[in-house]
Amino acid sequence: MARYTGPVCRLCRREGIKLFLKGGRCDTAKCAATRREYPPGMHSWRRGKFSKYGTQLREKQKLKRAYGLREKQFRLYFAQAERTKGNTGENLLILLERRLDNVIYILGFAFSRAQCRQLICHGHIAVNGHRVDIPSYSVKPGEIIEPYASERSKKTIKQYLEQSAEREMPPWLERSTDPPKGTVAGMPTRDDITLPIQEQLVVEFSSK
Ligand code: SF4
Repeated sequence: MARYTGPVCRLCRREGIKLFLKGGRCDTAKCAATRREYPPGMHSWRRGKFSKYGTQLREKQKLKRAYGLREKQFRLYFAQAERTKGNTGENLLILLERRLDNVIYILGFAFSRAQCRQLICHGHIAVNGHRVDIPSYSVKPGEIIEPYASERSKKTIKQYLEQSAEREMPPWLERSTDPPKGTVAGMPTRDDITLPIQEQLVVEFSSK
């Protein structure tokens, strides 16, 4: 299935939480999830409570939409999480958290994960000095993430970093604004993931 290209605020309203898909607007009073705290659609008020299946499905969609994944990508991550030792739900969240587009979003290189994905695809990001243009690249402890190529892109990223200077970094990431740089200090743990998600429901849905 192709990537969703419609209005992203509908996705937040559908899931009933802020997924921060629109960058700067998400923290303002214009946020649609705050202004209209009901699902999108003409007859949304008619819908009753979710069934067990519906609750599990919404939780899976929430996770998929927050990280901007397509269904097939999500299934591949789930299969990898199942193959890994330990709790499948936690493994899944950690795998997603280690995606390069997510990491530079946390570091504050851009305002949204979609913008971060574009930075990577356009070749503006380097890992350990080598250009990486794959948003799903999985970061490893010790790696250094920096802007790559032109002075202009370094300047733009530095501006974003300065605007998000107040953002608290999780223990597994370190960052500096001058020069703009991020270091992967360790592996993320479940407690480092702030997205309000019940991973057990995602596992129950995806194991069917
Ligand atoms: Fe979601 Fe951001 Fe739109 Fe608010 S502004 S509804 S957080 S995408």
